Amino acid sequence: MSTTQTGNPFNVPVKYVKKIGPRRAEQLARLKIHTVHDLLYHFPREYMDRSRPVSPFDRADGEMITVLGRALNVQETSPRKKLTVTRAALECRRGIFYAVWFNQPHVKKTVKPGVELLLSGKLDRGYGAVQVQVHDYEVMSGEGTMLHTGRIVPVYPATSGITQRMLRTFVYEALGQWRESYREFLPGRLITAENLMPLPEALEQIHFPDNRARAEQARRRFIFEELFLFQLRLALLRKNFTRMKKNHRYVAGDQLRNRYLAGLGFKLTGAQQRVVGEIVSDMDSPYPMHRLLQGDVGSGKTVVAVLTLLRAVESGLQGAFMAPTEVLAEQHYLSLSGALESLGVRVGLLSGGMPGRERAAMLEDIVSGRLPIVVGTQALLQEDVIFQKLAVVVIDEQHRFGVRQRAILQEKGVRPDVLIMTATPIPRTLSMTVYGDLDVSVIDGLPPGRRPVRTYYVAPEELPRVYNFVAGQVKTGRQAYVVCPLVEESEKMDLQAAEELHRRLSERELRDCRVALLHGRMKSGEKDRVMREFRAGRIDVLVSTTVIEVGVDVPNATVMVIIDADRFGLAQLHQLRGRVGRGSEQSHCILAARLRSREAAERIKAMKASQDGFYLAERDLQIRGPGDMAGVKQSGLPEFKLADLVRDREIMQAARRRALELVESDPELGSGDNLPLKLYLRDMDRVKENYFHIC
Ligand code: ADP
Ligand code: MG
Repeated sequence: MSTTQTGNPFNVPVKYVKKIGPRRAEQLARLKIHTVHDLLYHFPREYMDRSRPVSPFDRADGEMITVLGRALNVQETSPRKKLTVTRAALECRRGIFYAVWFNQPHVKKTVKPGVELLLSGKLDRGYGAVQVQVHDYEVMSGEGTMLHTGRIVPVYPATSGITQRMLRTFVYEALGQWRESYREFLPGRLITAENLMPLPEALEQIHFPDNRARAEQARRRFIFEELFLFQLRLALLRKNFTRMKKNHRYVAGDQLRNRYLAGLGFKLTGAQQRVVGEIVSDMDSPYPMHRLLQGDVGSGKTVVAVLTLLRAVESGLQGAFMAPTEVLAEQHYLSLSGALESLGVRVGLLSGGMPGRERAAMLEDIVSGRLPIVVGTQALLQEDVIFQKLAVVVIDEQHRFGVRQRAILQEKGVRPDVLIMTATPIPRTLSMTVYGDLDVSVIDGLPPGRRPVRTYYVAPEELPRVYNFVAGQVKTGRQAYVVCPLVEESEKMDLQAAEELHRRLSERELRDCRVALLHGRMKSGEKDRVMREFRAGRIDVLVSTTVIEVGVDVPNATVMVIIDADRFGLAQLHQLRGRVGRGSEQSHCILAARLRSREAAERIKAMKASQDGFYLAERDLQIRGPGDMAGVKQSGLPEFKLADLVRDREIMQAARRRALELVESDPELGSGDNLPLKLYLRDMDRVKENYFHIC
């Protein structure tokens, strides 16, 4: 056993592990392994059971087996260029069999006549002889630990140049050198209460388990650890955010609010009223609001946002409205300025592409307090944007804003009331645990008088019939969207496709309609013009790339045609469908697609079955299945190393409860029992500034 090192594994570069030189260290960096800690927390993705040697003579051709034998002779041949075959004859109690290695000439250095070998590989009984194509082997020397066979063997996420064999060896060396540096850092009470395998043991067992059950226990410990640390940070963040009193107060008075409501032409729903009540009582509290507003597409979140902002304006304070993209910021700007101009409330748009002089003027307006409401993207968080008296920040579509962005706000020295709005992406069952640091308000149900959108699936060949239907709807005075997907990798090609479709429809199928094109590459002024024309009813059919996804509100539009619907995720499809069904007329959503995969078919089926965004988000998770990381990214859920939000829901709930208890009883993590945890968090922070994120 190697001597034990005491350096902090978070700080020690991985090249200081025995057998890892600078070159290997570079390759390991591709696996995001930079430090000893990264290496030890590079967990196996699965295991192979090679613990029970069998006799090769009893097994069937093609089986994966582990066998034991003594080498009689070893030969190396080179039947053709770039192929070396090492073949050993081995003896066991039942007779003689053969082992072959391809292109591993170094094997002959250790596999010499007389040595005892444990082999794992594929049995090949093709030509009478019993032969094993070796995947891994171990020389039985009576000393040292077997890593590669003769046990339950870890299988790691790997990368080119780094083999499983190397990873096992590296991890084993690192364990030997640094295991002792890992004292348990979770509080003892927690370990007992949750029945967790303690740390040094768990590290060993997750990599080199004694048996399956122990591997499982180790794995559960790290899943809990991961989720607990996540929840603990959320809880601490919340504690920090909300425990300092804010330095603004709202005056009583609701002139602006009443005038705004009077101009709406509808009454707030019960759900909207309730939510506004929750927000107002947060705003009246001496501590900052930190609230998540969940409401399906079309549930009327914008009104709530405006009322929140107006409360600041009424008190002579400022409000900021952040959207995830420039396009959405523009759309919010349009609708806010449209609604508030007549009340004499100025709204500004701080966009990324602004000319320097305009930007400077706007910054001046913001810092002087003359501009009460500013709309923008994350650009609003930039250092040079200084508000005179920022009281409220409304963030649309939370899932694209990270904990980091929230922290920046705090660092600006302001403690605004924060309202975060989100439509579908987070299933109800997860939102409490994933956004554990936020109070949650839900607008359940849609404003009255909405009729469910009729949803159909068609094959691409049936599109002419669909366009006929669109033309018919236009004749009766309705409007329509035709959406074609814009995939990032080939924006240009997709643009051409959209242009082509626009031309064809205006010349042929929809030549009696006024058809316009809207796409992401258009200048924003141009986009605004098209949108205004559409809203005003001077355009009948809008052929568009997905720029209309969120925020567009044209109640007279009753048809949504989505081309290649299989290329969209469920959340996106639902968002798109939410553009229609906003008025009193019956609306229709037509999904045209070729169903190449089971997932695509399931998504279309779900769309036909339900209009409930929360249900669809849930279905999305199920269809996608655990472990689909690309899908998880899209959904805006945080990513974990081991934990799976669907499978490990219960562990997440337990972790959340424990984290809340802990922060409640010891918010500074200062007691002796909790100190190791505090130090561990500090270590993590130092190395990985953004260790976990919700982006
Ligand atoms: P979202 O929650 O998706 O942001 P919006 O705020 O865009 O939804 O609202 C969708 C539509 O519903 C808008 O046309 C809005 O004017 C309308 N709306 C909002 N609240 C009500 C209500 N209480 N009664 C009737 N219509 C409403
Ligand atoms: Mg909205």
